[in-house]
Amino acid sequence: MSDAPELPKKEEEEEEVTPEQEEHSDDSSEEEATGDTEMDFLRNLFSSALGLGSAEKVLDELSLDGVARYIKSGKCRNIICMVGAGISTSAGIPDFRSPGTGLYANLQKYNLPYPEAIFQIDYFKKHPEPFFALAKELYPGQFKPTVCHYFIKMLKDKGILTRCYTQNIDTLERVAGLEGEDLIEAHGTFYTSHCISFGCRQEYSLDWMKEKIFSDDAPRCDKCSSLVKPDIVFFGENLPVRFFSSMKMDFPRCDLLIIMGTSLQVQPFASLVGRVSKSCPRLLINMERAGQADHLLGLLGFGGGMDFDSDKAYRDVAHISTCDDGCLALADLLGWKAELEELVKKEHARIDSQDKKEKASESKGAAAKASTVTVAPESKKEE
Ligand SMILES: [Zn+2]
Repeated sequence: MSDAPELPKKEEEEEEVTPEQEEHSDDSSEEEATGDTEMDFLRNLFSSALGLGSAEKVLDELSLDGVARYIKSGKCRNIICMVGAGISTSAGIPDFRSPGTGLYANLQKYNLPYPEAIFQIDYFKKHPEPFFALAKELYPGQFKPTVCHYFIKMLKDKGILTRCYTQNIDTLERVAGLEGEDLIEAHGTFYTSHCISFGCRQEYSLDWMKEKIFSDDAPRCDKCSSLVKPDIVFFGENLPVRFFSSMKMDFPRCDLLIIMGTSLQVQPFASLVGRVSKSCPRLLINMERAGQADHLLGLLGFGGGMDFDSDKAYRDVAHISTCDDGCLALADLLGWKAELEELVKKEHARIDSQDKKEKASESKGAAAKASTVTVAPESKKEE
């Protein structure tokens, strides 16, 4: 999963979505363009072991205030956000990794051989039903983006968001107004779907998939009758090509990394924190600390891990709170709080009115089909 994968199916998409990236990679030398993870790794190892590479202290204080002052200084123009399930929990989307409350605990009814099977590509090809039943239960359209999602949108509107790297597949970043080019959906997305037959690879839209999911049929390709799967990355599948190409371009020029709602335990996503320059401040907004350097690796001189409060700490800030509270606090320090709250209010009202319209037209359709059944049996009993 860690090396640049060959995914022919994604190539057309790549060219369409990121013409800007193509230009950038032309700028870099041949070596850089093909430069791989091992080279970076060795470079980092040698430079940290030999004390090379400048580690400038950019923040005047390792706190949220320090970060806010840095953003306000105007020197911070390329912000990367790295986000995980924690930014969507306040939208009501369960974090399937947390035991008990998580998704895996609710999977018993599907009679899976083991819980992870539901996201395993080989199992899916034989038994797609459990996945689609779950997809129906968790259908992305039923949720609203959070304060945190809209904070990221504000960074974009202010022209200082380089990109948002998300591990989430709930598409809430897109609902909040980020576009394909603003996003790296590292674990894929429900936004598009493809026929799983390699000879076909027909693309299908979210609306098409939604209709199939809610009709309880496993979606079949209109052209070749193979299964159609949302473009989320299953176990046993590669990460999107764009993850690797954008990563090489974005992180070296990043001047503030904001990590939210992730415990940085899933690779290769977690390793991204080590790809920014040594001077780049890194802000973690999360319910617990994460990404700290392993002690042994630290002794060996590996950089990359987060260091919030050792005597050598100079750039990492941990703000322990929910992602929404952390974003509100940061917005407040930036003088953006009222604007952020207004944006959330306006967008949520828009989504609610859209939902109402959809429901109204759905129930109109249903009423036309069965005009005699207007009162549910339950409500009769109560009378
Ligand atoms: Zn097909």
